Amino acid sequence: MLTLPEQSKRIFEKYKDDLEAIFVVSSVALENAAGSVLPESEWSFSAEFDVPGGKGTAWVLPPKEAKCPRCWRYVAPAEDDLCARCQDIVGEKKSLKKNRISRNPLSQFWT
Ligand SMILES: [Zn+2]
Repeated sequence: MLTLPEQSKRIFEKYKDDLEAIFVVSSVALENAAGSVLPESEWSFSAEFDVPGGKGTAWVLPPKEAKCPRCWRYVAPAEDDLCARCQDIVGEKKSLKKNRISRNPLSQFWT
């Protein structure tokens, strides 16, 4: 989670979709530094850094979701479950295989 002054928050929000990959974390939340409430957690780590408009703080908190066994990101709904993104990919692969093994080439038009 990043708490930032309003001015910087707007800049970071432009890149929000890339922040997870940049920080190598499961999710990034952007909060206004003024009046933000930290979620309760077992542990947390924070570091302050300078940003346009004042100081920002990066908070590292334990993941809320379970670890996906395929992509290892903490975004799965439960332990040993695939995350939504991996479920889509694995599901697509399965349906491709099904088409390949069908003997009647026309059968795919009816299934
Ligand atoms: Zn996954």
